[in-house]
Amino acid sequence: MDFNEYQKKAIGTDLEGKKDGNNIFYLGFMTKALGLVGEAGEVTEDIKKILRDKNGELTEDDRTALTMELGDVMWYIAVIADYLGVSMEEVAEKNLEKLQSRKQRGKLHGAGNNR
Ligand SMILES: [Mg+2]
Repeated sequence: MDFNEYQKKAIGTDLEGKKDGNNIFYLGFMTKALGLVGEAGEVTEDIKKILRDKNGELTEDDRTALTMELGDVMWYIAVIADYLGVSMEEVAEKNLEKLQSRKQRGKLHGAGNNR
């Protein structure tokens, strides 16, 4: 499955739906933004527990749980991107372009979005 196919299917499970126009201050957008942070928190919480309770030893159950949580993060990214009128493929391509540019310029380390 490619990114855009995933995005199309993810949108099909969005209960609030996309709103036309450029104003992001509506329930659907806000709940997706909050949900993205919540799911990212679930990823880090699982990792914390593996570090804290299992001395960093990753089990298959941990791997499965983290895979599911990463999928939850991806769902929110896919839906937010759709709300913005951007395809998942474009998000992925732009991200790789940015990282390749930083790598070529020796700027992978450091701070700031526009380095
Ligand atoms: Mg989750």
